[in-house]
Amino acid sequence: MPNESARILILGGTVEARLLAGRLESDARFSPVTSLAGVTAKPSKIAGEVRTGGFGGAEGLADYLREDDIALMVDATHPFAAQISANAAKASTRTEVPCLWLERAPWEHQAGDDWKLVVDIEEAARVIPAGARALVTIGRQEVGPFFARENIHVVARMIEPPNEAVPVQAEVLRARPPFTLEQEKTLMQERNISVLVTKNSGGDATYAKVEAARELGLPVVMIARPGKPPLDTASSVDEMLSLIERTLG
Ligand code: NAP
Repeated sequence: MPNESARILILGGTVEARLLAGRLESDARFSPVTSLAGVTAKPSKIAGEVRTGGFGGAEGLADYLREDDIALMVDATHPFAAQISANAAKASTRTEVPCLWLERAPWEHQAGDDWKLVVDIEEAARVIPAGARALVTIGRQEVGPFFARENIHVVARMIEPPNEAVPVQAEVLRARPPFTLEQEKTLMQERNISVLVTKNSGGDATYAKVEAARELGLPVVMIARPGKPPLDTASSVDEMLSLIERTLG
């Protein structure tokens, strides 16, 4: 481990990234810099330095790593943020700045779950049966294929409003996780929901909707995770702290 505090770039936008920044900031050996894409207007407070906005692809990120004297990078982005993770792996190879991956475990199918597994957003939108009332909880950036279905009713839940116009057969519900099981059951019952659509994000903050669907006997269209580059991986903040120490020696 070097004598001066090591600058650690955290590619963020998740609860785990924020927790990791807090832990690194309270340790004199490290100086965390968290990078946000800038898609959320009012992000939660993060310890240490914060920078916002894209780097300009893998090359831009590689330049940033060199110019900002980054000792190590942690990809703590959402499991579905595939582009930034691919860029991080390429920039790491180009600069030899190590990149570690903080990946939260996916949700596992349990007794009582009725999951339809699909590979991506397009397939998820396609498999919803005509006449369904779908609670779509995939964020605001990829709601287009659901809004394009004219024979289903869509309740699209998101933190920020969507960029595109909301068609007559859809409605937008703005809310920020976490949600309780009771809140999720009430929402599904009040809106007469017949199917839930979700990414397999993992973690606790948004799991209550999956439990609520199980308890109400509703089917879930579960979108599988995209592939990410093979990197040294930790599945919790504690594990990541040990991995950082081992990697920096
Ligand atoms: P993405 O498709 O993988 O990335 C698209 C572009 O956005 C990247 O090429 C990069 O631009 C920029 N970018 C993404 N994350 C960044 C970061 N942490 N710092 C700086 N630039 C970043 O990403 P996404 O799926 O749009 O996700 C954007 C952010 O929202 C991420 O921080 C992610 O953790 C968070 N998030 C995503 C989801 C989801 O379902 N996808 C859910 C919750 C939170 P340049 O090429 O110009 O560098």
